[in-house]
Amino acid sequence: MAAAVTDEQAAIVATVRDFVEREVIPTASELEREDVFPDAIVAGMRALGLFGLTIPEAYGGAGLDLVTYALVVEELARGWMSVAGILNTHVITAHLITAFGTAAQRQRFLPRLASAELRAGFSMSEPGGGSDVQAIRTRAERRGDAYVVNGTKMWATNGARAGLVATLVRTATDIEPSHRQLSCLLCEKGPGFEAGRSIGKLGYKGVETTELLFRDNRQPAHNLLGGEEGQGFRQMMSGIEVGRINVAARAVGVARAAFEHALRYARERRTFGRPIAEHQAIQFKLADMATKIEAARLLTHRAAARKQEGRRSDVAAGMAKLFASEACQEVVLEAMRIFGGYGYSTEYPIERLYRDAPLLIVGEGTNEIQRLIIARGLLAGADD
Ligand SMILES: Cc1cc2nc3c(=O)[nH]c(=O)nc-3n(C[C@H](O)[C@H](O)[C@H](O)COP(=O)(O)OP(=O)(O)OC[C@H]3O[C@@H](n4cnc5c(N)ncnc54)[C@H](O)[C@@H]3O)c2cc1C
Repeated sequence: MAAAVTDEQAAIVATVRDFVEREVIPTASELEREDVFPDAIVAGMRALGLFGLTIPEAYGGAGLDLVTYALVVEELARGWMSVAGILNTHVITAHLITAFGTAAQRQRFLPRLASAELRAGFSMSEPGGGSDVQAIRTRAERRGDAYVVNGTKMWATNGARAGLVATLVRTATDIEPSHRQLSCLLCEKGPGFEAGRSIGKLGYKGVETTELLFRDNRQPAHNLLGGEEGQGFRQMMSGIEVGRINVAARAVGVARAAFEHALRYARERRTFGRPIAEHQAIQFKLADMATKIEAARLLTHRAAARKQEGRRSDVAAGMAKLFASEACQEVVLEAMRIFGGYGYSTEYPIERLYRDAPLLIVGEGTNEIQRLIIARGLLAGADD
């Protein structure tokens, strides 16, 4: 855990850690292998109130801050990265509605999101590209009191089970600056809007990743986030910072799992008459792994605190996501080396962590894009 956590945060972490030990870790590897959605785990997360963790109390949530959220995500990901991903798009969309929604939108959606009676997705990416957000093609045309939506989205985490998807759409083609052509529509599943095929993946199994198909789908005009066209790019960029905090915290959790396994194994496994933990080469690996994890956690909490304060957070969230995901990849590989041949075996969880980690380098904006965001922000003096 990071340096200064409050008593309340420590109690929440203890509760979630206990849940993960009892409900997640014993079943994660099997569910992962079978690529089965973890219904029982999600029911447990719901009972703990995790889907409403950051939603204001006035709407039935716990009203907790993003540092607490990061701590919770780390604990979940330590058990199984996928369950932290199930939370991610939900929390991003809840943030969007809380921060930018009209009073009616908050009233209509937040209580059901807080209870997880309604689960939410977040969709910007399309088959033609994810990094170049402003090139999206999904179109929403205003006709009377509705938007008619046409297009295909790609890589929608929770795409099949989310009843509500915060979707980036093009509402105009001729306005400058061009980002004002984009809006965020709170799309409810219904005729003409459904999940398409589910995409097979290297890791990050259990949670579905799907296409989203919009075919002359009608969404009520009052589902336009904030009620004003042209705000979607700005809104989604704010939302994705919450997503980057989730990814960074997830990376800390996955790396921590790998480290804990490696530490235990290094104490037990003996070569040349002594535990491998007594070989300096192994000790150096453990020292580097733990140092990277701690640094990643500190960057993550810094970004979360900054975002919570309402300050500009593109650089901080980008740094946290970049550093934590790269560190996670390195730590997991080192854990695999410490495990020797057993690291490559499906009988140990290391190979799962090794397959999960690379997603964090790509998801929520690739690390190449994070470097662009960080550099642009620094050059613009945005990280004061
Ligand atoms: C399992 C999974 C779940 C996902 N869930 C969601 C979700 O819920 N919602 C959602 O909207 N998206 C989601 N994504 C999509 C993800 O955000 C995109 O994959 C990511 O943004 C990259 O987009 P792309 O795959 O189209 O790659 P591209 O944009 O085609 O990029 C390809 C390569 O080019 C590099 N590149 C691109 N532009 C530049 C540049 N200007 N300078 C340098 N390098 C560049 C990229 O870094 C990358 O290495 C998910 C992805 C995965 C794999």
